[in-house]
Amino acid sequence: MKRYGNLINGNMDNAGIEYDVISPIDGSIYAKAVKASEEKTKEAIDIAYDAREKWENIPLSGRKKIFAKMVSIFEEKLDDYARIEAENTGRTLRQSVFMDTNIALEHMRYFSTTNEFKSSRKIKHPEYPQSYGIVQNRPIGVVGAITPWNVPLLMAVWKIFPALLAGNTMVLKPSHYTPATTFELALDLKRAGLPDGVLNIVTGEGSVIGKALAKSEKVRGLSFTGSTETGRNVTRNAAGTIKKIVMELGGKSPNIVLEDADLERAAKGVLFGIFLHSGQLCESGSRLLVQSSIKEKFLRVLESYAERMKSGDPLDMNTDIGAITTAEQYDKIRNMIRRAEDDGAKVFYRKTIEGSVPKGGFYIGPTIMDNLSPGMEIASEEVFGPVLSVLEFDKISEAVEIANQSNYGLACGVWSKDTRKAIKVANMINAGTVWINDYHLISAAAPRGGFGNSGIGRELGREGIYEFTESRHFFVSDENNELVDLSFGLIVSD
Ligand code: NAD
Repeated sequence: MKRYGNLINGNMDNAGIEYDVISPIDGSIYAKAVKASEEKTKEAIDIAYDAREKWENIPLSGRKKIFAKMVSIFEEKLDDYARIEAENTGRTLRQSVFMDTNIALEHMRYFSTTNEFKSSRKIKHPEYPQSYGIVQNRPIGVVGAITPWNVPLLMAVWKIFPALLAGNTMVLKPSHYTPATTFELALDLKRAGLPDGVLNIVTGEGSVIGKALAKSEKVRGLSFTGSTETGRNVTRNAAGTIKKIVMELGGKSPNIVLEDADLERAAKGVLFGIFLHSGQLCESGSRLLVQSSIKEKFLRVLESYAERMKSGDPLDMNTDIGAITTAEQYDKIRNMIRRAEDDGAKVFYRKTIEGSVPKGGFYIGPTIMDNLSPGMEIASEEVFGPVLSVLEFDKISEAVEIANQSNYGLACGVWSKDTRKAIKVANMINAGTVWINDYHLISAAAPRGGFGNSGIGRELGREGIYEFTESRHFFVSDENNELVDLSFGLIVSD
């Protein structure tokens, strides 16, 4: 069985309370890890603080070389990572192989090769042509990162690589439920040549570690991914120390199917949008907004494809349905479904999975709920589980209105054979990402984040790197010139 201490200054530190990391596949103990205390977290922050200079002194090309080495190490171990991620989170091994680890690899490759980030650029001052400027994008120092339990490997990649590329050091706290691949990644980065202390991993209680990171004066930037409620809490804790904050929070994303959509493709896409990792993805398309004229037909197509989804052991490459990652989340989802039924919602479809999934695990069959109004809890609050809420609209303006009623604004899908029409609809939706005739696909080159209660700041893309820099301007005036004579002359006239 694997054992993870806290990774501080390149060493596994085993001081602290050991706890069981559970695999949701069958409820068994998958690994052991150690909960870091507030003091341990402060120690990790001090180490990251002291490592700033040595990391900043490695030029950008040198940092990219270490990342490139990491890419080759990771490529060799893709299968191991896929299995660990599946066992710890309960996602299907097929998803882990074809999505999580592959995307992680491509995104690491992007950050090891991108020329989008420049630490310095020369500018002209239009008002003062006799001078010029140098704009620097300096690292901000120690970045604190906090990740949720649902997509631990990708979240770690998205936080570590851009922040370190820009020259920052980091203390990262993965969720105590799913810390395994984050530790593996950090250990492999050490093997790739990352100097000790640049990246430190502490796991345990959010209320202890997250609070210590948020309140620390030495942590100059905070990158948080998790629920909106915790995001508010973290922001409050960070307020006293005036630091840069990126918040990637929850969502209740609409998937809008117009009557001129390719219904077969849209049905598969809608199922992919909601049931990938059993709906436990922040951008999951949990609200189906379907045009009334095609609703009945579309639901039948949806049902026929949902019937084909295979339940079984998530580690079997033929299985389509994974587990719910934590026992708490399992209870939360079931309670929300129960409340929705009490409120008059009808279960249009529920996949029977009993008997085919491993005993002791946390499983909920993919569920489609109808007879809803947009304000009902199940149709407006994040379930973070395999539950699709069906809403209908007559006119496109109604679809836009329902889509934008949510306080969240993370993502959206629009399905239509008329791309120009779909882009017009996309323009009217409050969301940080809109997929047109697609869903879930995330590019390292594109900024990702939310509007409204879904967050502030962006991750990935050029924007995601610059998020963790501090810009500085040098105004350079080389020689005596008219400007100098004119401006100084305001005070010291000849
Ligand atoms: P969560 O908010 O409960 O926890 C997220 C992280 O914060 C965990 O590491 C947790 O230990 C830590 N934490 C808990 N209390 C804290 C506190 N008081 N101070 C600091 N840190 C604290 O979220 P979760 O249940 O792990 O993940 C699910 C949520 O994450 C969903 O709402 C989902 O939408 C969101 N999410 C968002 C994105 C995105 O990119 N927008 C991606 C994935 C998940």
